[in-house]
Amino acid sequence: MQTFYIETFGCQMNAHDSEKVVGTLVAQGYRQVPKPEEADLVLYNTCSIRDKAEQKVFHRLDDFKRNGKGKVFGVLGCVAQQEGEKIFDRAPHVSMVAGSASYAKLPEMLVQLEAGGRRVTGLSLDNDQAFETPFTKRDNPHRAYITIIEGCDKACAYCVVPFTRGPERSRTSESVLNEARELARMGYAEIQLLGQNVNSYRDPSSAGWDFARLLRAVGEVDGIRRVRFTTSHPRDFVKDIIDAIDDNPVLCNHVHLPVQSGSSSVLARMQRLYTREEYMRRIDWMKNARRDITITTDIIVGFPGETEADFEDTLALLDEVEYDSLFSFKYSRRPNTSALELADHVAEEEKSRRLAILQEKQRAIQIRRNSASVGTIEEAFVEGYNQATGQWIGRTSENRTLNFVHPQLAAPGEGATLVGSTRSVRVTRAGPNSLAGEAVVPVSDDRL
Ligand code: SAM
Ligand code: SF4
Repeated sequence: MQTFYIETFGCQMNAHDSEKVVGTLVAQGYRQVPKPEEADLVLYNTCSIRDKAEQKVFHRLDDFKRNGKGKVFGVLGCVAQQEGEKIFDRAPHVSMVAGSASYAKLPEMLVQLEAGGRRVTGLSLDNDQAFETPFTKRDNPHRAYITIIEGCDKACAYCVVPFTRGPERSRTSESVLNEARELARMGYAEIQLLGQNVNSYRDPSSAGWDFARLLRAVGEVDGIRRVRFTTSHPRDFVKDIIDAIDDNPVLCNHVHLPVQSGSSSVLARMQRLYTREEYMRRIDWMKNARRDITITTDIIVGFPGETEADFEDTLALLDEVEYDSLFSFKYSRRPNTSALELADHVAEEEKSRRLAILQEKQRAIQIRRNSASVGTIEEAFVEGYNQATGQWIGRTSENRTLNFVHPQLAAPGEGATLVGSTRSVRVTRAGPNSLAGEAVVPVSDDRL
């Protein structure tokens, strides 16, 4: 039996791909070890969304240039797909390079490696099927990812994903629902549906379901208590999704809707296919929903040609929407992308300045919004226990972290735990990134 180590960089799609890769390797007789030093096979599942992310894998590989003798190295994921066989030249101790569209061929590639193959590749994007495997080895015992669509057919001017993950491939609704039912049977409480653009999901079977229909059906699977989804593209985001959330509390009241910029002219240059006004219409659907829906987003600052006035538009958007949280990035030039051709690249220091202003503004919004929750009672799904703070780690349906103390169970012990249950918690404190509180235990309820 051989041992392997895998390190994953990047998004949830990569994290879930790695779970499938691990399951596949274990099914082939490999054993996972926690340190690269202990492994015969060292795998890096890589991210190339920004230059910094891409460089990480090369730093890791450099660490083993001299002391990696006897080990086999493999580069998987987006950097593998983007750089292809060039990786063998840059890091000659690498023996396998494979993009995510080739993972179905992993068993074959492993056989080639075991036979001493030195340049094993899986780089074809010519694949009309999503990667499905019965061997996924999930990391979290309560929350499970399910990929519903792979790849991306959009062409955002800054983005490498269409080049690294290939064209869109949706799974059949039957296969998604079978996986969801199986997860419920195994005791998973939460399902997170994944795709680069879940809203363009189209069931390839004759059922022909769209995303909202699939979301409703997953929300009705017996035993599943929470369903989340990510990521949504505003262009394909329809009101049916909000109606589905309104109709079923199992569907979490949180939507991540990346805007990228508050300026319609920047959005046009980014080829995002919507204007600020069209985006705001989607925000209005959420604000007018029956349930309180929290909204989060992604923003890029310093896209080529972004003027001070464009940036001001983005800041004004933050005030208008009042996001619950956001991921913000400095624009990073990526290979193959059309933005490379654009004029007026923004200086690095200016990008940093804009990023700091944006983040400061958002921090103030989060403090204000979270403070408004103090005194309310929220339902928290318990994900863990923090020894250092003596608090249970909870998450609300809105995706807020809510850490809390429990009057009857200060810590897990002797088989007693709150992890995996849902608790009512009174919010007593609020910070910019999380809430804290205490569990509400009815006097008559001596159950933990
Ligand atoms: N498909 C999703 C979408 O459309 O929002 C997510 C794509 S990506 C994994 C996540 C985020 O990274 C994007 O929403 C964008 O804000 C950011 N991003 C992508 N390319 C970038 C680039 N070249 N420079 C800086 N940020 C980038
Ligand atoms: Fe990239 Fe745009 Fe596709 Fe998202 S929708 S993965 S940002 S090309």
